[in-house]
Amino acid sequence: MTQSVSEKSQNKITLSMPVQYLKGVGPAKARTFAQLGVNTVGDLLEYFPRDWDFSPGPIKIDQTEPGRTATIIALLESTDYNSHRRQPIFEAKLSDDTGVCRIIWFHGGYLCDKLKPGQVIMASGKVALYKHQLQMTNPKFLVLDEKSSEPDEYFSGGVYPACSKLSSRQIKKIIGCVHDAVDKLVPEFYDKEFRAKANLISRKEAFAWIHLPPDEEKLAKAKRRLKYDELFLMQLGLALRRFRMRHLSMAAPCACSDEIDSRIRKRFPFLLTEDQSGAIAEIAADMARPEPMNRLLQGDVGSGKTVVALYAALLAVANGTQVAIMAPTEILAAQHFLRIERYLNNSKVKRVLITGGLTGKKRTPLLEQIKQGEMDIVIGTVALLQKDIEFQKLGLVVIDEQHKFGVEQRAQLRKQTTPHCLVMTATPIPRTLAMTAFGDLDVSIIRHSPPGRGTVITRWVDRDDRQKAFQFVRERLKAKKQAYFVYPRITALEENEDIKAATDEWKNLSTDVFPEFNVELLHGRMPSAKKQQIMVEFRKGKIDVLVSTVVIEVGMDVPNATIMVIEEADRFGLAQLHQLRGRIGRGEAKSYCFLFAETENEIAKGRLDIMIRSNDGFEIAEHDLRLRGPGELFSTRQHGLPDLKIANILDDYDLLVMARKNAFEMVRSDPMLNRPQHKNIRRALLEKFGDSLGLADVA
Ligand code: ADP
Ligand code: MG
Repeated sequence: MTQSVSEKSQNKITLSMPVQYLKGVGPAKARTFAQLGVNTVGDLLEYFPRDWDFSPGPIKIDQTEPGRTATIIALLESTDYNSHRRQPIFEAKLSDDTGVCRIIWFHGGYLCDKLKPGQVIMASGKVALYKHQLQMTNPKFLVLDEKSSEPDEYFSGGVYPACSKLSSRQIKKIIGCVHDAVDKLVPEFYDKEFRAKANLISRKEAFAWIHLPPDEEKLAKAKRRLKYDELFLMQLGLALRRFRMRHLSMAAPCACSDEIDSRIRKRFPFLLTEDQSGAIAEIAADMARPEPMNRLLQGDVGSGKTVVALYAALLAVANGTQVAIMAPTEILAAQHFLRIERYLNNSKVKRVLITGGLTGKKRTPLLEQIKQGEMDIVIGTVALLQKDIEFQKLGLVVIDEQHKFGVEQRAQLRKQTTPHCLVMTATPIPRTLAMTAFGDLDVSIIRHSPPGRGTVITRWVDRDDRQKAFQFVRERLKAKKQAYFVYPRITALEENEDIKAATDEWKNLSTDVFPEFNVELLHGRMPSAKKQQIMVEFRKGKIDVLVSTVVIEVGMDVPNATIMVIEEADRFGLAQLHQLRGRIGRGEAKSYCFLFAETENEIAKGRLDIMIRSNDGFEIAEHDLRLRGPGELFSTRQHGLPDLKIANILDDYDLLVMARKNAFEMVRSDPMLNRPQHKNIRRALLEKFGDSLGLADVA
């Protein structure tokens, strides 16, 4: 490949040079490259093959061995197309000065115009012996230039993601032009000792081999190094982001004392679990410092996060600051408010629920009180971020269900003030995402739920077993237990008429299936007062069966409800199914979850299988991520992280862990990456993240 670029032009190639100036690329191809996300030589080097071809170099026909793959360069002596067979065959006879080889292509009609006797072609495929003759079936081939029977490329090497205007072969050729400049172009990031310890080849070798691997082993090494670098830069970005958040802004330190601690704990009618106390200790340690806390509190549904959040809130209030608690929806905000009210009975702490419905006359004085610092805890939705709500001294922000908030909202929040920030999530974040998309947060985990929770048994019920399942439910109802029936839709009126809807099925259940029991309907479009009334009656046990949509996903906490039937379960996402199931198993009795589903969809089946097998939210979340596939992983972009081009956070988990550890250590020892040995890394980081890390201003 060296021949294609002269020494001189190679010297001029830089990573930031537009691809347009490369040999063989003009303005038109440059535009096509731009569509593939390739603008500069640097981008081109990171345009990695999607596959690799290890076809061997050419040999003479008499050196080929039946059963092995070979590449030959030979003269096309004759061709023949037999279209009358059931499987039409295009046949060619090739020869060189050592022998003859027959080649057949099934359904090769398209070759009639391409292959003509007299051409020299290179063909690569598995050789077989057929009627004492050497033969290749459906080989790869290339018609060689008439003048030179030496190809300027072989089959081996990268196969690139192509498009109609730019074939993989063309891309390969163009990358071939910069290939020899890799040595000069690619800077090293790490010293030899580290590379030896981490078992990483040099960055130069990695780039050279990823495009043109000498063998499979070297390809594997190249991939490993490039994946590591990609993950390392991402983690470094996260580490820097966290460092900046911590050290470039101030929050009110909230000290905890034994007295405050016991005063807060007395608010709860139970002993906190070990996990809850652990999370509280981490939170209190964060809040005691002037650097703002930025912590994610993860725990399965019902694991007791709200209690932990309330502890943090009371700690902030005890330190004379205000607290904002925000949920993604009004219903959830109201839930929080009610739950918190339960614990704050007779407390002097002033708290208020701000809803969208609150307007004018009522709203203005409340906002004034918040502004004057007379309100301690303010609960609401994202609306709390609106400009007209001003706090006198906001010490802590608690955000529930982080992933429903965009990153921008989080940023907006930070702009206003720099309070301590606790993010709660009931959807367990898989460890991989906790380290990437949420990787700039510290994490506290509540793994074990409070004691006294019965086990939940989950079954997948198909059409034939429906009656049996109903009978089982009937027995439990007779024993004074309660049940939830959940449907994907409220009514069939709109969109999908064929999907079972809560309103219709409610009639069916109450008149035909369970006429002897009290079956009630609850859904999000009912007037609040009606909803409230039904929830209260269900809690009191006056309702046996609650027919509902996912609204019960939130807020319902009825230990006597030990049965859940989810209709059309294949239509729900895994996280949602798990959340729903979290509504049962809250008392000591055994609970049962029946997933009614008929589906041939493999992904849906996969979800149901996992539900049956596991009750562990983290495990489920990890599976969920896998099932949803790599497309979902690109959500890293939404989190302000660069795309991953070669690494995959699921498959490369071990590398991710190593990269994270090393990146965070590096930032700890050299927070601005000012040391000379970090120069190349720093530059690469600036290229990836732009100046969003605040590195640029330090230069
Ligand atoms: P989450 O917010 O994680 O869904 P909650 O804080 O709402 O969980 O708690 C779920 C239920 O468990 C509530 O009814 C709560 O009163 C109860 N609970 C929380 N912590 C404990 C505990 N340590 N011991 C007993 N019950 C608890
Ligand atoms: Mg909760």
